[in-house]
Amino acid sequence: MSDSHWSHVYPWQSDLWDSLIKRHQQQGLPHALMLTGVEGIGKHALALETARWLLCTRRIEQHANVACGECHSCRLWQAGNHPDFMECQPEDDSRQIRIDGVRKLNEFLMQTPQISRCQVVSLHPVEVLNGNAANALLKTLEEPPGESFLLLETERLGSVMPTIRSRCQRLTLATPSPQQSLDWMQANGCDPLVAEQALRMNQMAPIAALAWVQQQRHEQHNHWLQQLQQWSNGSLPLDAMVAIWKKDELTGILSWLGQLSADLMRAHMGADHSQLLEPAILGCFDASTLQPAKLIALHDRINSTLGQIQSGASYFNRQLLLESLMIEWQTLVTNPGRD
Ligand SMILES: [Zn+2]
Repeated sequence: MSDSHWSHVYPWQSDLWDSLIKRHQQQGLPHALMLTGVEGIGKHALALETARWLLCTRRIEQHANVACGECHSCRLWQAGNHPDFMECQPEDDSRQIRIDGVRKLNEFLMQTPQISRCQVVSLHPVEVLNGNAANALLKTLEEPPGESFLLLETERLGSVMPTIRSRCQRLTLATPSPQQSLDWMQANGCDPLVAEQALRMNQMAPIAALAWVQQQRHEQHNHWLQQLQQWSNGSLPLDAMVAIWKKDELTGILSWLGQLSADLMRAHMGADHSQLLEPAILGCFDASTLQPAKLIALHDRINSTLGQIQSGASYFNRQLLLESLMIEWQTLVTNPGRD
């Protein structure tokens, strides 16, 4: 098989792609498929390629396991203007999918396909459907109208309503092997050492890791670490510190702080540079004097806050949240001996 055969799926997805196609050709894909897996392994790319293939009007006569790229459907797809495809995702800053979005989806599926033999909806991420929106989707999941496919994606399966989860068939995308990810990142111009750190920082997910490198997250982290150290030793006042951090993406800061506190915990238990996500932290803080209980409490608080924000919670006051986290952090690093 030529390389171009897989042109639209990532190299680590080729087996999964093959089995997906075979399954559809033998017994038909389920109407609702939930793609799960960590961020940055290509769930959305796979969903889009599946949609393109399902919609392609020549694939059946050609018995093709890749969309032809030439039929009317494929050309409309290429132009980003396919009448039988719809994407449903958060439309505003609330990061939630609201009932209006699901109503549009339901109305779309009530129509008959215009070009292709079926209609396809890509909905992501599932966990940000608010209660009303989720309820409005249930009936469609139970009795999908006509020939239609819903491709849903989630990184947080535990946050998806059980009623939604139980009505979808799950497709779990495994994280590629470290070597596969490293090869792919190097082929995309990454230095191997940088690629290794980027993978560790991104749950071993190659696409997230490559974006991390390209967005120079490493430099950003160095700035944050410097500022955190200055705040901890009193050379940067709280309001100045929060004013800087408020401009950065909150989920980025929280996930970094979560990793940092996990690193401090590992260092406290004797881990060395090579076992840490952010080894530079050892030069900034003395992990041996920290109190594990406080550290765990802070780590849990950061992660649960992050989870809530990623699930669409919008009630956090960015300034107050950062201030209180920073105060908690300072107590941790400056009063190590006391409780
Ligand atoms: Zn086609």
